[in-house]
Amino acid sequence: MRKWGLLVLAVWIGTGWTAAGGTATSASAAATNDPAPSPAASRHIAVVIDDFGNGMKGTEEMLKLPVKFTAAIMPFLPTTRQDAEAAHAMGHDVIVHLTMEPIRGKASWLGPGAILTSLPDGEIRRRVEAAIADVPYAIGMNNHMGSRATADERVMRIVLQVCKEKGLFFLDSRTSWKTVVPKVAQELGVPLLQNDVFLDDVYSHRHVSKQIALLRQHIRKRGTIVAIGHVGPPGLITSGELKNAIPTLQTEATFVRLSELVASSSRAQGDKVR
Ligand SMILES: [Zn+2]
Repeated sequence: MRKWGLLVLAVWIGTGWTAAGGTATSASAAATNDPAPSPAASRHIAVVIDDFGNGMKGTEEMLKLPVKFTAAIMPFLPTTRQDAEAAHAMGHDVIVHLTMEPIRGKASWLGPGAILTSLPDGEIRRRVEAAIADVPYAIGMNNHMGSRATADERVMRIVLQVCKEKGLFFLDSRTSWKTVVPKVAQELGVPLLQNDVFLDDVYSHRHVSKQIALLRQHIRKRGTIVAIGHVGPPGLITSGELKNAIPTLQTEATFVRLSELVASSSRAQGDKVR
């Protein structure tokens, strides 16, 4: 399991870990070893599209994008299975988009199977296992909302423990500055990735194209970036802007699925370990 601990560190370095609080002394030490800017061929963009599973706007347009991405699919919803099967058939990665308690909003808005901080340990475990079982082809997990739950160490220890048992990696959507996910994932040895940019937190073409421009800047600096977009209210805007930007972005970087980032971090780290 020590190897996975190293992998988590490698992913932090690879994505330019910028957590507030900076509890990871190993990450800051590693910053002095930052490699020189990578050539275009070795730069990576991992697009993650959240909120599949409910027949949301833009579902088809996203699935047909001419690049491989990662589809985050909500469990227990009318098109959960259908979207997971379609995404898998088109070569995209499938991950579970697990609803987790936010700081703002009512628990009743969360839908079926949400992870609430008020739940006892056994019920959290049961819900995480059921969510994974409900999304076919899932190889990872990320959080839908979760600004309260991802800051709760007891809750995240259970969620990440189940991920470990099922062989899933975790993508921290980073909806909280107080996230405990990096700390707990490292302790448990769960491969971890983190979101760098939300593409469509404001639903307008102008905003999404601005975020895509930001993404290009980050790629040039860091070499690897994870960006999250959504089906639903911004689905057609985001899929349209991405489709337009893809040819230009491809001159600067390669689009990858999250599993490829996990795998390449593992290989890169393996090269360094004697
Ligand atoms: Zn979501």
